[in-house]
Amino acid sequence: MRILLTNDDGINAPGLEVLERIAAALSDDVWVVAPAEEQSGAGHSLTLTRPVRIRTHGERRFSVTGTPTDAVTMGLKKLLPAPPDLLLSGVNRGANLGDDITYSGTVSAAIEGALAGIRSIALSQVYAGDSVGDAVSFAAAEAWGARVLRPLLGLPFAERTLVNVNFPPLGPEAVQGIRVVRQGFHDYARGSVVEGTDPRGYRYYWFGLHGIEHTPGHQTDLEAIADGYVAVTPLQVDLTHHESLLGLAERFAR
Ligand code: MN
Repeated sequence: MRILLTNDDGINAPGLEVLERIAAALSDDVWVVAPAEEQSGAGHSLTLTRPVRIRTHGERRFSVTGTPTDAVTMGLKKLLPAPPDLLLSGVNRGANLGDDITYSGTVSAAIEGALAGIRSIALSQVYAGDSVGDAVSFAAAEAWGARVLRPLLGLPFAERTLVNVNFPPLGPEAVQGIRVVRQGFHDYARGSVVEGTDPRGYRYYWFGLHGIEHTPGHQTDLEAIADGYVAVTPLQVDLTHHESLLGLAERFAR
């Protein structure tokens, strides 16, 4: 089984090292193609206005000077000798839950794989508010990763679908189990904008992660994480709101 790994936190991300260990338990044909720099929040963006370059870090290890989607594209079109059987994106440093997944480079890399017809899974490690940056622990992902992935390997995925996995911010023994849940939503989507003055005296603005209120109920991924479970959510690329099709068509009918 050939596996392609990527990570929107970049080729040197600690979560990518964790994913490499998880993948090594599943196969010895593992390839890494990741952005050269951190691309968190890049969503599904594709680099169109400048060239993209590849750096070789090892026999099956490459970085791409672009977005997570660029990295997957280069992996599939230029670097791997044949399409992979599985694409794993992560382990992201931080949650990809609820409405936030549309911003996510991690989930978008898996979307790119799904669009190419490859079984694709995004993995993210949620962290608690008091552990940030290099202090974030991937212990739950490390211990539960292969356990979550194995049942997904033989399962047929519907076309243009992928699976989004989030690990709770707990030690491995404290994790309650695995729950398959729907995508949640933030009840009040209000991210913070941090304002300050740079060393040269100019105002700057920096989008913060905190200040988004949500209630983790509704039997969603947010609730599963709040309850201490690994959250597994099937996603589809088709964003059509099918229930609205008829009513909208009636609006335009003569
Ligand atoms: Mn990231």
